[in-house]
Amino acid sequence: MTPQKFHDAICHEPGSITTNAGDPYSVYTYFWKKWRDREKDDSRAVPAFAEATDDEPIPTLAELGFEEPSADVPPASTEAARELLEEFLTDDVFRYDERRDYPAEGCTSRLSPHLKFGTIGIREVDERVRAVRDSVAGEKRESVTEFRSQLAWREFYTHVLYFNPEVVRENYKSYENAIEWDDDEDLLEAWKRGETGYPIVDAGMRQLQEEAYMHNRVRMIVASFLTKDLLCDWRHGYDHFREQLVDHDTANDNGGWQWAASTGTDAQPYFRIFNPMTQGERYDPDAEYIREYVPELRDTDSEIVHSWHECSPTQRANAAPDYPEPIVDHSERREQALSMFERARGEDE
Ligand SMILES: Cc1cc2nc3c(=O)[nH]c(=O)nc-3n(C[C@H](O)[C@H](O)[C@H](O)COP(=O)(O)OP(=O)(O)OC[C@H]3O[C@@H](n4cnc5c(N)ncnc54)[C@H](O)[C@@H]3O)c2cc1C
Repeated sequence: MTPQKFHDAICHEPGSITTNAGDPYSVYTYFWKKWRDREKDDSRAVPAFAEATDDEPIPTLAELGFEEPSADVPPASTEAARELLEEFLTDDVFRYDERRDYPAEGCTSRLSPHLKFGTIGIREVDERVRAVRDSVAGEKRESVTEFRSQLAWREFYTHVLYFNPEVVRENYKSYENAIEWDDDEDLLEAWKRGETGYPIVDAGMRQLQEEAYMHNRVRMIVASFLTKDLLCDWRHGYDHFREQLVDHDTANDNGGWQWAASTGTDAQPYFRIFNPMTQGERYDPDAEYIREYVPELRDTDSEIVHSWHECSPTQRANAAPDYPEPIVDHSERREQALSMFERARGEDE
């Protein structure tokens, strides 16, 4: 059969969804409306992946010069991707809108590595999602649409990267002065190890170590914590995620980091700083997700887990002697972050 070439990483190529003046979008909402309503091409057959034979086995990672990863990553095949998709579409997709921010519920699709590596095509996914959407009404239909809007974020960030390739290393949104990140090496290393003394942050960083994956809400929390509490440049976080994530995607990862650091498109305003304790309490109220990944807190009451920053040394020693004390004081660091951004905005006089 003659080889054929298709553009299949995203539904709509960069340049095909633009403002009425023909410019690329820098605000997601308008992009989404056009993406949602634009007709999609039919999906293409997934190419057969080359199979290893006895004469030509797949080289091991060690033979290729890499260390064996310690994380437990999911199976990589089109069959596995389709199974995930169909399972998601029978149930979780209908709870997605309401519950996707709660990491213990695991109601997101986990399709990110498959979309990243093409073990399933985006058109095939969207075709199935639209079919399910059209079979339901009301809140269920809204929930499916919310899921589609996440697929569109992926395409939006791909377009942003295409038209602004410098964002890989530079801020998308520039400030009047350079942001004076503190970049304390010890704090950065504690964050990477998941030993910050902020339970939801540590749970996320340890999920990353164990599974090379992290839930989206928790990615937002750990990214905010690194940039706004530890005052470390988002590029350190992005570099770490790039090394660790099984679904690392330059456009999405960069978009996520720059959003959290208040330097990106549609970015979180610099003065809206997540409180990591409140985030933990709101999105993991029974500390189920935290206990799954932080064994030192497995036998600790949720109330203590969520007020760890306020506990006395004696309370901490009694409740979870092996879990670290908070490495920074959130309220103090919040003030420092605000000053850092005000200086960058030229507002410190
Ligand atoms: C700091 C940070 C870093 C991130 N790094 C990556 C990355 O390297 N690779 C990556 O694919 N996603 C990244 N994301 C986006 C998001 O966290 C993941 O896509 C999502 O958690 C993957 O899980 P899922 O497949 O179950 O998602 P679902 O909620 O089931 O979403 C379905 C698909 O939509 C896309 N998607 C969902 N949310 C986003 C989003 N906010 N931005 C762009 N695409 C999205 C993904 O392809 C995802 O697989 C990052 C987010 C943040 C805040």
